[in-house]
Amino acid sequence: MTAIGTLKNTSNDTLREVLTRLEKEGAALGHFNVSDQVLLKAVVAAAAETKLPVLIGASEGEREFFGARQLAALVRSDREESDLPIFLNADHTHSLAKALEAAKAGFDAVTIDFSALPFEENVARTKETVQAIKAVNPAILAEGEIGDIGTGSEIKETAQGGKLSTPEEARQFVEATGIDNLAPAVGNMHGMLKSMVQGKAKKHLDLERIAQIKQAAGVFLTLHGGSGTDDEHFRRAIAAGINIIHINTELRVAWRESLGESLARDPNEVVPYKILRPVVDSVKQVVSSRLRLFHGQPVSPEAVGTVA
Ligand SMILES: [Zn+2]
Repeated sequence: MTAIGTLKNTSNDTLREVLTRLEKEGAALGHFNVSDQVLLKAVVAAAAETKLPVLIGASEGEREFFGARQLAALVRSDREESDLPIFLNADHTHSLAKALEAAKAGFDAVTIDFSALPFEENVARTKETVQAIKAVNPAILAEGEIGDIGTGSEIKETAQGGKLSTPEEARQFVEATGIDNLAPAVGNMHGMLKSMVQGKAKKHLDLERIAQIKQAAGVFLTLHGGSGTDDEHFRRAIAAGINIIHINTELRVAWRESLGESLARDPNEVVPYKILRPVVDSVKQVVSSRLRLFHGQPVSPEAVGTVA
């Protein structure tokens, strides 16, 4: 039996259906990166706890460590077992070969990232990749990127990026490439500053620019580098047209802090699942809290404070 309120989220939903439905509801899909099975277990447990859809992400480096085919197989089995809309995205893919590898492995979406190249070259390489992955799977979601938001979901000394996207280049880029969703630079940044990890500072987004880009682009919008963003800015960014929000560094910080605590608790403990279980729980709390926020549900201040 399915409980009331959970009927609309099932494993039969396609990614496009979920995004369309969430947009109507004024919600955004949470995208959470995983490097290993501890992080994967945490994201899946958060989806099960909240009964909300999730998009699991793995960049080229994360895929190389996990195994692209192995991750796709695990996510497929998580989706079947949970009967929840759990999807998989090949995050920040910088070559046609890596995009094709992910499409063939069964990923639901690919973030095609040639944003470091000049605009015209970005258009040409993105268009070529969109066509190639859609030939493998016509239902796959192709994302393209413009602007500069820095690289690496890490703790940083100084802010990166800066070149914000304009509505006009967003419109041109979408028309020329055939992408399904666009990742613009709107005040977001990959990674977190130390002050953000300590909870002393928050990222602020250019909300007006998001609304203008949404109108000009007319496609789903993805916000990368969401970690450390002010809660109210997240709510307003979703209202302005953001459909997918990427959170990575917050998970990594929770993973490292809880792993350190767990190892320090008992120097004689050598059973991996006893050491790692509290790590899964810590990361799950961060994911659940972000999911609730992205779906307009109340968020307890303590839950967000755990990542600060
Ligand atoms: Zn990103």
